[in-house]
Amino acid sequence: MRIYADHAATTQLDLDAFDEMKTFLLEEYGNASQPYSFSRSAKEALKSARVTIAKCINAEPEEIYFTSGGTESDNWAIKSALFDGDVRCDIITSQIEHHAILHACHTVEQKGCHVEYVPVDTLGVIRLSDIKEHITDKVKLVSIMYANNEIGTIQQIKELCSVAHSRGVLFHTDAVQAVGHVPIDVKELDVDMLSASAHKFNGPKGIGFLYIKKETSISPYIDGGAQEFGMRAGTENVASIAAMAVALRNNCKKMEKNIPHLKKLETILIRELHGYELDFRCNGSDNRIPGNLSLSFRNAEGEMLLHRLDLMGICVSTGSACDSKNTKISHVLEAISVPQEYVVGTIRISLGAENTEEEVKYIAKAICKILKS
Ligand code: PLP
Repeated sequence: MRIYADHAATTQLDLDAFDEMKTFLLEEYGNASQPYSFSRSAKEALKSARVTIAKCINAEPEEIYFTSGGTESDNWAIKSALFDGDVRCDIITSQIEHHAILHACHTVEQKGCHVEYVPVDTLGVIRLSDIKEHITDKVKLVSIMYANNEIGTIQQIKELCSVAHSRGVLFHTDAVQAVGHVPIDVKELDVDMLSASAHKFNGPKGIGFLYIKKETSISPYIDGGAQEFGMRAGTENVASIAAMAVALRNNCKKMEKNIPHLKKLETILIRELHGYELDFRCNGSDNRIPGNLSLSFRNAEGEMLLHRLDLMGICVSTGSACDSKNTKISHVLEAISVPQEYVVGTIRISLGAENTEEEVKYIAKAICKILKS
């Protein structure tokens, strides 16, 4: 038996998306850039994927640029501050961003740009005043994640973006944990760039996109052929792109049903854990990605809990799965000041639509058994 409860790390491929992939890997495998008729289907698939994805986030098709995933999209957004030769190249971001943003910022810093890492409150929320305070004439970009990958906290993106725009500063959001899970409308948010990754919404791994609002001044990321409107060269991964579009369309259709289901599972899990009289705290704000629970058990060891749960067939994570080799206390838990006696005992349970009430009850029982043994 296996209970998969680590959907923030990755998700199972949607079956329709799998069928779509097979078609473009085995049958319609022509290079989308070739002029002959055999490539027509691949070309059409790219066009149609752009339309489908754009519809899901209320963008225009020509504002969607395919990339190799969230990490590349984030790197492109951050490093564009350097590439386009503007004298302004300073960046404001937060202390709780994913390493795809933080490490890209470190690179930018080495090239002479200043990066301000704003703090968060104890729920993981970024204050508008902290962004306002740090905007100077040298700031080019504000990059704030839509939802955090460890604690799930959702930020006030529309308001943060409006603060940046009021000072003529571009706004990017890393929405890797949000796209396909909560409704996203780029026109309503008014963001200039938004990163997404297919494997977080039941698409294949190694594919994603960067939304770039029309007329945003941003330089190309990969030089070579003319693919992606000359902005990101390389033969298109048509099978994965087509599958990503199918997965996103399906997830967006099911969202209305999935969100209450996930919230119900969260409530049951918390209630069960309280029922076992375990001493724990739930990190992050109530406004968070449905199904994402960061739980800190007093005087426990998250690492031990993860391995013992694994032996019982349950997959969860400590901190962030993208960072499993890093055994330090996570920068996110540090930023939200989780008390010392709780912080080491933190695990992230991220539930998916296919998880059941029985499964979350079993998870709670397993945690209790481990902690009380
Ligand atoms: N940004 C966030 C918030 C993430 O959670 C992740 C992956 O966990 C990434 C970026 C990186 O995405 P990818 O795995 O597609 O490179």
